[in-house]
Amino acid sequence: MKYSAATFLRHCLVKCIFLCVGIGIIQCRSDSQTHEKAGIAISFDDHFINEWFALRPLFKKYNAKVTFFVTCPDSLTQDEISKLRTLQSEGHEIGFHGTIHGKSTELIAAGPEKYKEIELTPGLLNMANAGFKPTSYAHPGGDHNNQVDSVLLASGFKILRDVAISRRKIMGFQMYALAPRLMPWIYYSFDQEHIVDALLIDEDTGLTEPEMIEALEKAKSDNKALMLFGHEPLYGKPQNGEYGFSVPFLEKILKEADRQQLKFYTMSELPEIK
Ligand SMILES: [Zn+2]
Repeated sequence: MKYSAATFLRHCLVKCIFLCVGIGIIQCRSDSQTHEKAGIAISFDDHFINEWFALRPLFKKYNAKVTFFVTCPDSLTQDEISKLRTLQSEGHEIGFHGTIHGKSTELIAAGPEKYKEIELTPGLLNMANAGFKPTSYAHPGGDHNNQVDSVLLASGFKILRDVAISRRKIMGFQMYALAPRLMPWIYYSFDQEHIVDALLIDEDTGLTEPEMIEALEKAKSDNKALMLFGHEPLYGKPQNGEYGFSVPFLEKILKEADRQQLKFYTMSELPEIK
């Protein structure tokens, strides 16, 4: 949303009056000088239910709430369903990541009904039968377009999450590298936006701890929420086609977020915060 100078001044004035009269504070404060919303929203994609479940002690240690985006829910076992229920009961969110993890821009070329019939309806039925009603969606492979987004929003999802990458290598050559703190699109501004990007933290991204500390400091100073995501929790270097993030690296992020007193948000909470 763009503001004219007059609208901006009017907003400032209204905010000053509210702050001065309402809570007796003489000084004016802008949103970025307060930090009460500053936080972090971490999500995990695909179908690593047992591996995610094993992270519970870590989440508890730092009072972290996260979101799990589940794909291929037709293959959920009773044991996995019960683990997801436990995670949900502990404050985590169970989101949806597609029925077949398909390429949505190709699926929707056959029409919105066909797209829903293949990628949304059957999986959502599986989820409902397992007791879940997902309100957040992560695009499989980060693939989507405006038509896909409008079908998903019309289907009741409150927030759609895409993929952001800070480094890109093509045939072994680094094409670009951006420090996460310089990627404004991975921060949620609490503007009720429904379409967002989260930074991939998997091992092959080469992200470093100092970069993550700076990225969290930026969320704190700007009163925003840093959005991150990964796949399988790994305890060593990826092997045999494994793709995922280092658990010690995740712990560094959780520990720093806790130290900076950042709030942990699930994905569906973000657009709800006023
Ligand atoms: Zn995926």
